[in-house]
Amino acid sequence: MYVNNAAVMIKRIRNLILLRLFGGFFAFAVLLFLMTVFDIQGLRYGIGYSTAFLIISFIPVFFILRSRKKLSGVEKYDSFFKADHDGVITMDTLAKMLGVTPEKAAKDVDWLYRKGCFQQLTFDRSTGTITVSDKTKTGFRNYEETFVVKVCPTCGARVRLRKGGGDRCASCGYYVKDIEEVR
Ligand SMILES: [Zn+2]
Repeated sequence: MYVNNAAVMIKRIRNLILLRLFGGFFAFAVLLFLMTVFDIQGLRYGIGYSTAFLIISFIPVFFILRSRKKLSGVEKYDSFFKADHDGVITMDTLAKMLGVTPEKAAKDVDWLYRKGCFQQLTFDRSTGTITVSDKTKTGFRNYEETFVVKVCPTCGARVRLRKGGGDRCASCGYYVKDIEEVR
């Protein structure tokens, strides 16, 4: 589990509460702005103030919405990190899986990493690589222990993959998963 679900959930709840609060401010600012624009109750003289209030009150709303957007679909990273088979994930690989540019992938990963949404991995911003490790109570487990070699059911090639994960067979492209077959 590389996504810190507890941390993500707390952030989602916090965003929900903050959106109620600052969304309320913003709604009030919109109302005040409209009242000054249409000169309801002789408020026209306050148009400068109401415009400033409108802009300022939108700033927290903008950041909350951005946070919500970045947090959406964070769970999908788990399967991407599980598909890794050498302990290191480059931004080029991740970008392909996400269907975005490596720059965009690095930006999103960096944000999520800084916000504590990931665990059992480190992200090196300068090299743009994610180092995956299964940290246990006694320290970092040996990488070799966290991998298994499976035989591809369609072509018979050996596929190295992360325990509990899956990866595409290099020879035929079949997606091999590390799960016990149900008989
Ligand atoms: Zn194969």
